[in-house]
Amino acid sequence: MYRKTWFEINLDAIEENVKYIKQKNKKKFIAVLKANAYGCGDIQVAQAVLEAGAEMIAVSSVEEALSLRKEGYEGELLILGTTNPSDLQVLKEYHITTNAYSLEWVKKVIQLDCEGLKVHLKVDTGMNRIGSKSLDDTKEMLELLVNHGCKVEGIFTHFACADSNTTMTQTQFQLFKDTVEALDYTFEWIHCDNSDASVSLEEDFSNACRVGISLYGISAYEKSLNHALSFYTTLVHVKKVQPNETIGYGATYTTEKEEWIGTIPVGYADGFIRANQDRYLLCNDQLCRVVGRVCMDQAMILLPEKMEVGSIVEIFGPHLSLEKMAEDLHTIPYEIICLISPRVTRRYIKNHQVIREDNVLLELHR
Ligand SMILES: *Cc1c(COP(=O)(O)O)cnc(C)c1O
Repeated sequence: MYRKTWFEINLDAIEENVKYIKQKNKKKFIAVLKANAYGCGDIQVAQAVLEAGAEMIAVSSVEEALSLRKEGYEGELLILGTTNPSDLQVLKEYHITTNAYSLEWVKKVIQLDCEGLKVHLKVDTGMNRIGSKSLDDTKEMLELLVNHGCKVEGIFTHFACADSNTTMTQTQFQLFKDTVEALDYTFEWIHCDNSDASVSLEEDFSNACRVGISLYGISAYEKSLNHALSFYTTLVHVKKVQPNETIGYGATYTTEKEEWIGTIPVGYADGFIRANQDRYLLCNDQLCRVVGRVCMDQAMILLPEKMEVGSIVEIFGPHLSLEKMAEDLHTIPYEIICLISPRVTRRYIKNHQVIREDNVLLELHR
């Protein structure tokens, strides 16, 4: 690593989280690794979850599925988002399972060479994103797909409020259950629980769960998961600034007295967004306020005393929680980690050691 700003992913913690949820809900485990595993690195996280016993990986698009195939993953792979019927040959060639989310989609697919295509039916029980909204449509979809030689291996739905509104989750679950029962078909995979439902919704009707954010220890309900993610940078420049000087673009911060100002090599192009201005980071066990505007590649922090160049600065991690950062920025942990841009080095910890550091920029030019 050259520029010392990194996103640290603890694979040991991820493995423990998979094992914990598996032994708690006793279901098959579908690890949701869309968006490059929420920014954490799809193949690295895939290896960890598979070692911990995950039975399937889910992504959002054909591109994401192919990325995992090209990195060597050969197991069960499901696309949760939409696919174009015209792309079905690539799905078949790479043994990628897709979801059938409308009767219209199915009618197009069956006009093509779809024999052998692996499909999970997607039922909309209230999220109103994708999925079939009527039992008649779902029945017809199943029939058409089966009659044209597709392998309908699963059925699923997605909850809108698993993190808070249990009434709505119950209603959605009941509708899902009624739908599956009415279809009277043997599905290998029946799944509805995302991370929060996987540890809170007590039901043994579904036989698999789809877990994304809790892989990293984030959960609305379960406090015994392990936090797996940290974001660090380092002090690269430290200087004493006189009273009444200003810091950064727009001169939005003025020193009151002689102050120690540190510069960190992280900015909004790394996903450290401008709204971080005036938030606190941790350096040498001391909270340091981000002063002045966050720049594209750099930011400045107010140091309570002189500190050494090279000191590590925690943005979130063991002392500053990702959840708190999300709250401060009026968003959710998902968005913060997905925004950590590809140029930030990913550092992986396994068996308590750094096992690898990946940077897309260096790979492109290798
Ligand atoms: C993203 C996603 C999940 C995973 O959600 P988490 O809250 O991260 O567990 C599960 N199912 C579908 C359909 C999704 O889009």
